[in-house]
Amino acid sequence: MSHPYNYITYPSSYRTTLTQATNFVERAMRTAESSTSRVQMIMNQVSSQLNTALSALFDGTTEDRKVFLPTTLNAIARMGKDAASAFREVTTALDQVVAFFEELLQAMQPLPSPLTTSGPSGSTSTQANKSSLDINHPTSITVILNNFKSLNSMWNQMIQYAEKLISQASQALQMSSTNEIGLETERVQCSSEIDLSDLHCSTICENILWKPVACQQCETHFCSMCITKWLGNNPNQCPMRCDNFIQRSCSKFIARQLAKLQIACIYQPNGCNEVILYEALEKHEMICGYQLVKCTGCLLEMLQKDLTEHQSKCASVLMTCEDCKIVCRQNDVLTHHSDRICLREQLRQFQHESQYETQQLREQLRQAQRKIHKTSCVLDIH
Ligand SMILES: [Zn+2]
Ligand SMILES: [Zn+2]
Ligand SMILES: [Zn+2]
Ligand SMILES: [Zn+2]
Ligand SMILES: [Zn+2]
Repeated sequence: MSHPYNYITYPSSYRTTLTQATNFVERAMRTAESSTSRVQMIMNQVSSQLNTALSALFDGTTEDRKVFLPTTLNAIARMGKDAASAFREVTTALDQVVAFFEELLQAMQPLPSPLTTSGPSGSTSTQANKSSLDINHPTSITVILNNFKSLNSMWNQMIQYAEKLISQASQALQMSSTNEIGLETERVQCSSEIDLSDLHCSTICENILWKPVACQQCETHFCSMCITKWLGNNPNQCPMRCDNFIQRSCSKFIARQLAKLQIACIYQPNGCNEVILYEALEKHEMICGYQLVKCTGCLLEMLQKDLTEHQSKCASVLMTCEDCKIVCRQNDVLTHHSDRICLREQLRQFQHESQYETQQLREQLRQAQRKIHKTSCVLDIH
C-alpha cells in the first residue's frame, strides 16, 4: 500500500511505527555516546598539544619552533577536524530522529488519519498501549520532538566550536611557516662542476634542498619543512614508499655539495644583485634591504632599505598589531614586536579562548548526556 511518508514505513501499524521510532532513537543515542567519548579524548590531546606549542615558543630553539610548532599546529587542526566529524555523525542521526517524529506528528494532525483512529486490528493496538510511549497523544510526541531538536542544536553548536579551533590553528600555522621550502633551481649561479640532480627535494617540492634531512632506509633527502608537512599527512611513511620512515641528518656529501652552491638572493626581482653562498643565504635574506616591508603606521609597502627614512617622516606613530592586538609605538614595532612575540601572544589568547570553549563543550556534553538519559527513560528503551 502506498502512503505519503518518507520515514514511517507502515503507518497503519502502531507496533511497527513504535519499533521504528525506538530504532531511530537508539541509533542516534549510540552515536551520541560514542562521539562524546571520542571528543573527550580529543580534547585532552588538544590541551597537551597546546602545551607543546607554547613550550616550543617559550623555551625552544629556532629549530624547535620551525619543526615542532608546525607539527603541533597541524595536529591541533587535525583533531579539530576529527571532533567536527564526530559531531556531524551525531547531527546526521539526530536529523533523522527529528524528521521521523515530525512526520509522525504530521500523520497525527489531520482527522481521520491511520494513526489517530484505532489500529487495523485489536491485538496491535493492545500491544502498543503496553508501551510507556503513548503514540496516540500528539503532546507527548511534541515533547520528545522538542527534546531532540534542542539536542541537535547543541551538537551543531559544538561543530562550530570545533571549526573555530581548526581555523585558529591554521591561522597560527600560516604565520609560523613562511618561505621554508626548497630553493628554485634557477637561483643557483655558476654550478658547472656540481651535479644538481642529487640536491633536489625528491617528490615533494622538487627544488634545491633547504635544511635537508634524509630517510634512514633509502637515504633520499628532503627539505625538513617539506618532510614535516608530508609526515603530518602520512604518519611514518617515506615519500619513496619505504616501510617505516626514520629520519636521519643530512649526509656529509650532500651537505658539502650544497655548501658549494652560490645562490641569487630571493629579492633579486626587487633589485638585490647579491649572490650568496648557500650557508650564508638565510642570514642575508633576513637583513636584505630589498625585501618588501609595510610601514606599520601608514601600511605603505616599500623596500626595507627605504623604511627607516620613511618612518622618520611617517605621521602614524601608534599602531595596533593586527594579529595579536598589542598596541605599541611606531618606533618600537621593529625592535620589540617580532613575529615570535606576536605569535606567542596569539597562542596565549588562543589557549585562553580554547580553555573557555573546552569548558563550554564539557558542560554541553554533560547536558546532552542528561537529555539522552531522560529521553530514553520516556521511551523506556534502556
Ligand atoms: Zn622540499
Ligand atoms: Zn625512504
Ligand atoms: Zn638580497
Ligand atoms: Zn608610513
Ligand atoms: Zn602582533
